[in-house]
Amino acid sequence: MKLLDGKVCAESLVADISSKVAGYVNSGLRKPHMTVILVGEHAPSESYVKSKIKSCSSAGFESELLRFPEAVTEQELLSRIAMINADPATDGVIVQLPLPKHINPQHVINAISPDKDIDGFHPTNFGRMTLGQKAFRPATAYGICKLLQFYEIPVKAKHCVVIGRSNIVGKPISIMLSNDFEIGNATVTLTHIETPRQLLLDETRRADIIVVAVGIPGFVTEDMVKDGVVMIDVGINRLENGKIVGDVDFEAVSRKCSWITPVPGGVGRMTVAALMINTLMAYQNNFNLA
Ligand code: NAD
Repeated sequence: MKLLDGKVCAESLVADISSKVAGYVNSGLRKPHMTVILVGEHAPSESYVKSKIKSCSSAGFESELLRFPEAVTEQELLSRIAMINADPATDGVIVQLPLPKHINPQHVINAISPDKDIDGFHPTNFGRMTLGQKAFRPATAYGICKLLQFYEIPVKAKHCVVIGRSNIVGKPISIMLSNDFEIGNATVTLTHIETPRQLLLDETRRADIIVVAVGIPGFVTEDMVKDGVVMIDVGINRLENGKIVGDVDFEAVSRKCSWITPVPGGVGRMTVAALMINTLMAYQNNFNLA
């Protein structure tokens, strides 16, 4: 078993971005700028935002954290997003999810300019991604693709099983892996909560690559996989003892894997790196750079 180390891969990608940014800045351009919107107080969101801001600094970007109280209205948030959309000094904006219950996340996502939607959640970007066109691609799914590429894991013609169909992970990764675009050309089965248990087992047991994003610790067990499987564990679950674990029973399953992502230090790191790639692309689009 070998580790698909998200830290090593993310650091390499960010170092590459940072040298590109240094070149742009040396030629007289301003730095890329990311704006992060955080609403309320939610411990995991605080830590995700912190790592995004830290990564901006490693990539040579400027970043700005806009904090809003839990009670902010949807309209106030939308007005601020409209200002950011119109501000030429901001290349990309993300709204950290989840939002408080009184705010509809879809309204907020749809209000972000597709040109600044570095999370890749806007329907325009999602549509372009689905069609295999140039787009900001949802960061976690894009990060998984980058990780597979970095470790030269063959994907073409492989049988991939995705467990979980969220709009931010399961759905986009199932599309990306099946598309004929950069990385992909796999045969993909997308499973979800309504997939009958036996069908799920039939699929996972013959999968070459499994991507699991369900949010249930230890969901994927040893008996569900074949020898040599490539396991991508997207889950981030905090146990009562404070330990962070994924959706895979790592101890037992890793013995059967050819490759597996650790949690932490796997997909989470790649999500942030993919955000940096998207932000650089937004900046390059702004300045008509190649
Ligand atoms: P979600 O929490 O929105 O939905 C869970 C998905 O799991 C649903 O699509 C549901 O159909 C599926 N599911 C639930 N039980 C199932 C079952 N028994 N069989 C098959 N499918 C089942 O999904 P999400 O937002 O993608 O989050 C999933 C996990 O990934 C969470 O732990 C989350 O914290 C983590 N996550 C990690 C990153 C990262 O950067 N590493 C990014 C996003 C989410």
